[in-house]
Amino acid sequence: MEPIWIAGPCAAESREQVLETAAQLVEEARSASVRLHFFRAGAWKVRSAPDSFTGAGEEALPWLEEVQRTWNLPVCVEVMNAHQLENCAKHGIRAVWVGARTAVNPIEVQQIADAIRHSDFTVMVKNPMIPDLKLWMGNLERFLQADIRQVMAVHRGFPDATENIYRNAPMWQIPIELKVRMPELPILCDPSHLCGQVRWIPEVAQIAMNYGFNGLMTECHCRPEQALSDAEQQMTPSDWAQMVSHLDLRTDAPDLSLIKQRAKLENIDNQISELLYQRMMVADEIADIKRANHIAVVQPQQWQQVVKHYLKHPEDTVYQDFINKFLELLHQASIERQR
Ligand code: PEP
Ligand code: MN
Repeated sequence: MEPIWIAGPCAAESREQVLETAAQLVEEARSASVRLHFFRAGAWKVRSAPDSFTGAGEEALPWLEEVQRTWNLPVCVEVMNAHQLENCAKHGIRAVWVGARTAVNPIEVQQIADAIRHSDFTVMVKNPMIPDLKLWMGNLERFLQADIRQVMAVHRGFPDATENIYRNAPMWQIPIELKVRMPELPILCDPSHLCGQVRWIPEVAQIAMNYGFNGLMTECHCRPEQALSDAEQQMTPSDWAQMVSHLDLRTDAPDLSLIKQRAKLENIDNQISELLYQRMMVADEIADIKRANHIAVVQPQQWQQVVKHYLKHPEDTVYQDFINKFLELLHQASIERQR
């Protein structure tokens, strides 16, 4: 299956910005010999803060219609309800996606599915904000049962307080489990919302390709630094084309049983590395408090409390030996930092 590339701005901000971004994407894709399958843009934006830019709304739809007409390039838009979907259809937009926030509400998702039953729509369903595979699959099934032309899943990661490099935790094992359970369904990765910053996007995009994802949905803006939403995660069309044309694409079907276990390990390693670093940061804060209060750095009783948390599998003596060595290192490193 040829990979599916989707790119375009987080939000349609103005006619000029939409057309300029589309023109650059088309040109960059052509010179890199990459096929751009859909132009993406949000017309309605769900934002956390009440005074943030909420998108141009319906006004953006004619701009997007113009992109389709000018370059014969299908456009996809996020819809949150059946009314928005009908507006898209009125403007000839036949591809939509359900965002991560809407995806937590099966009633709204069902209403959208009912509004496009038996049509030639393409629908992409992002993973919900919560790491609940059943909910994601249920949403996908709602569209599959609605008998529309094409349904795809989009993995954009999951908000998680322990993640501090990426905007969202990848939890790769969840989309891979989806691939195991729904092998016919194309799964794309949205590295933009997953990473939150352009610098991580190429490596995450490559990981997705290694896992056998079927394409990418990437945010691109003609002037990312001036973007009204998600400025830090939008690539220039030229960087996007460079990235896509340099991805190492696998030609074989991945062995899902193996990559599923690898994805679990990757998720665990991500958490261990994040947590270890966070632990050191807290130790530094404790050092400041100790210094201010003239308390000794080494507190043996306190360390005994810490050790208790690591003695939960006494039956596995090989593991326990390893943990004892690890704790020694951890304690040493913590003391050195505090000093
Ligand atoms: C988006 O793609 O513009 C978007 C808002 O994504 P998500 O629903 O994944 O946050
Ligand atoms: Mn965005």
